[in-house]
Amino acid sequence: MDSRNRSRRTFLWQGALTAGGVACLPVLGRAQEPPVEVDGGPDLVVINAKIYTQEERQPRAEALAVTGDRLLAVGSTERIKALATKRTRVIDAEGMTLVPGFIDAHTHPADSGVSELMFVDCNRPAVAEIQAAMRERAAKTPAGQWVAGFKFDDTKLKDGPLTRTHLDAAAPDHPARVLHRGGHTAIVNSAAFKQLGITKDTPDPEGGKFGRGSDGELTGFVAETALKVVDRGTRTPAVGPRERQAGVKLISEMMTAAGLTTVHDAQASKDDFQAYQDALAAGQMLFRTYLLVVPELLADLQRAGVRARMGSDRLRIGGVKLFCDGSASERTMRMSRPYVGRPNDYGILVTTQDKLNDAVLAAHQAGFQVGVHANGDVAIDMVLTAYELAQRLAPREGTRHRIEHCTLVNPELLKRIAAAGVIPTPFYTYVYYHGDKWAQYGDERVRWMFAHRSFLDHGIRVAGASDYVPGPFEPLMAIQSMVTRTDYAGRVWGENQRISVAEALQICTLHGAYASFEERHKGSLAAGKLADFVLLEGDPHEIDPGRIKDIRVARTVVGGQTVHPAAESGGRQTR
Ligand SMILES: [Zn+2]
Repeated sequence: MDSRNRSRRTFLWQGALTAGGVACLPVLGRAQEPPVEVDGGPDLVVINAKIYTQEERQPRAEALAVTGDRLLAVGSTERIKALATKRTRVIDAEGMTLVPGFIDAHTHPADSGVSELMFVDCNRPAVAEIQAAMRERAAKTPAGQWVAGFKFDDTKLKDGPLTRTHLDAAAPDHPARVLHRGGHTAIVNSAAFKQLGITKDTPDPEGGKFGRGSDGELTGFVAETALKVVDRGTRTPAVGPRERQAGVKLISEMMTAAGLTTVHDAQASKDDFQAYQDALAAGQMLFRTYLLVVPELLADLQRAGVRARMGSDRLRIGGVKLFCDGSASERTMRMSRPYVGRPNDYGILVTTQDKLNDAVLAAHQAGFQVGVHANGDVAIDMVLTAYELAQRLAPREGTRHRIEHCTLVNPELLKRIAAAGVIPTPFYTYVYYHGDKWAQYGDERVRWMFAHRSFLDHGIRVAGASDYVPGPFEPLMAIQSMVTRTDYAGRVWGENQRISVAEALQICTLHGAYASFEERHKGSLAAGKLADFVLLEGDPHEIDPGRIKDIRVARTVVGGQTVHPAAESGGRQTR
């Protein structure tokens, strides 16, 4: 491309952006205006699609044109077709639905990628099957080395509970740990306790729990800070930079296949950050990533002079992640009323108000976005208190601080969230996938959990989030879950929180972009924005809502490049 072409293209994009939409683009002008051809023409056009743009000015379209990694124009098939030249690739969508690329605003890609690569998949319906999988891995692992499983889910077991003794039988000569898919609890075996020096006389650490039977013996269950004690002593399978890079490659293939084009890593460590950079440099990271880093890195970032949002549209540092309470799916979140059937159990707090205030203020004053993990209403109240205090002490415009998960709300919390401009990221696949867990909260409380309807009604820009591994990451399952509030077994949970397909799409696209300050660049389809989009074989607006999750993702495009499927298909390429 010569400089003349480059400046011409720049001009077109600026024109589109400064006028705030596509209306000013000559190609989309009134019918009598001849289409203006960009020199050389666009790199790619998609025609005959049913496009939902997420743009107020032009909500529907049929076709789009891409130059480089940006959208050049969005409009009718007739007009976009007229833009194509000999060098333009043309994809005929043949009536398929096209939406902006999905954004998962809270997930753990690098971490889950390594787990997918290295750990035993314990997402199995019977204790014996988990034992068999762990036994098989133990047979290939030198005695004394750790055998690690993940994606275990107590409520998906036909039998159980899974205990230390089951793991002793499967791996008598190896320390073994089976992590719950929620990530806050695990089951470990006797060899593990022995190696860690933990006995039945070891007291529970503050904010944590070692499960004990009626005889006082350890059951193998470890929760919250007790799991941290186990983790610190755990030498899980040797994971180095190479495995972590391979993990990012694998998870980016899995997630883009489901239609995700941007993912927010909600707890990025130094190792994760390096893994993303390695995979990106090797051309293996297919999605875009926005990072909330662990608080330990804040001082280092400040020392290095790194400011919030440093990076590129492929990989960006944005915020700091903190923790306040336990988990929704593992029933340890801190609430003002106890769990059903457990009158003394209100859940777990992992910090104090004072500590939280200090940590929030430090990140806030450093200019970073803050995202605090808070599931229960007590924890959400604490986080809002910390945000309100930080704002009083060091007022700052447009902080867009977040409450990660923000599971259980009430009218008063909703008002404070709206007033503070805070972004909640509630689980978007939980109602469908984790239905069996909601009985422990009771019907009345579930009406205020994952409260997508309430957030929208309060004008809160709620973003979509899987928290994968804890929740499945498939955005189409998420849309079905938010729209139907019905679980996999057909049970309805909090139907008052149902939202429309259009609202669910907005949450999964534009609101996700807003959560990372990137709504000017992604989350909707308009000239000048990044060419991130997904072709779907069905229209979620028209299909039976109970089957939305079965719609096939035909093609995922990130920055104008098809990243799924690996071998091009999805729409007929006419040249
Ligand atoms: Zn998380």
